[in-house]
Amino acid sequence: SKDALIYPRVLLKLSGESFCRSGESGITMSEVAAVSQQIKRVVESGVQLAIVVGGGNILRGKQFSAVSASIKAPTAHYMGMLATVINGLALQDALENAGVPTRLQTAIRMEGVAEPFIRRRCIRHLEKGRVVILGAGTGSPFVTTDTAAALRAREIEADVVLKATRVDGVYAEDPEKNPHAVRYSDISYQDVLAQNLQVMDAQAFHHCMEHGIPIVVFNFKREGNLERAAAGERIGTRVLP
Ligand code: UDP
Repeated sequence: SKDALIYPRVLLKLSGESFCRSGESGITMSEVAAVSQQIKRVVESGVQLAIVVGGGNILRGKQFSAVSASIKAPTAHYMGMLATVINGLALQDALENAGVPTRLQTAIRMEGVAEPFIRRRCIRHLEKGRVVILGAGTGSPFVTTDTAAALRAREIEADVVLKATRVDGVYAEDPEKNPHAVRYSDISYQDVLAQNLQVMDAQAFHHCMEHGIPIVVFNFKREGNLERAAAGERIGTRVLP
């Protein structure tokens, strides 16, 4: 039953890279279908799941404005937020195709495509067992979907933020540069700061730290990891008070 769950309500941050093949961009539905199968099993375990989707597979505001002289920075960030809605639509169909009921809520109003984000309605959907996909980040430029994930987690009283990545957790050094780098299984917020480790973007991290929201960084590409992370098993790196 839900009472036995370590994390009854989970906020999953799914970055844009979950929507395409490694090293590619755009959307590959077979990748979205694969992650949807994992999400399905989390929902079947009774966990309430809200998902903040990234957009980096399509466009990141900071990068795009840096290489595009005629685009203003806020415009580029709004483009990035719209990219997350494109991903949200893809995820919605993939999940529903897998038999998972969903709602898409956006921080920028888009009548005809999605519901607006309304906190209480979001929670109601979660209570009914629907996966709520949260698009358009915070609705404000200059931040990332990591920050949206941290803020929404607090707003909907999620018990944990799961950060799905392509690495196995948080390492003392970059594991792509040093294959012998040591992975932390548990680490405190303070130690992350003291060692200047990369967990989520700084704003997002500080928000979680300030409000004691645990963060689990894990490799979603390994089959079963998402379920294990959501179930509170020791997977990846847990960042705790
Ligand atoms: N973005 C924004 N405000 C937000 C969330 C996102 O302006 O609240 C923009 C920002 O430009 C960002 C882009 O949307 O680069 C896509 O999101 P993000 O880079 O977080 O995607 P991810 O890295 O998770 O794929």
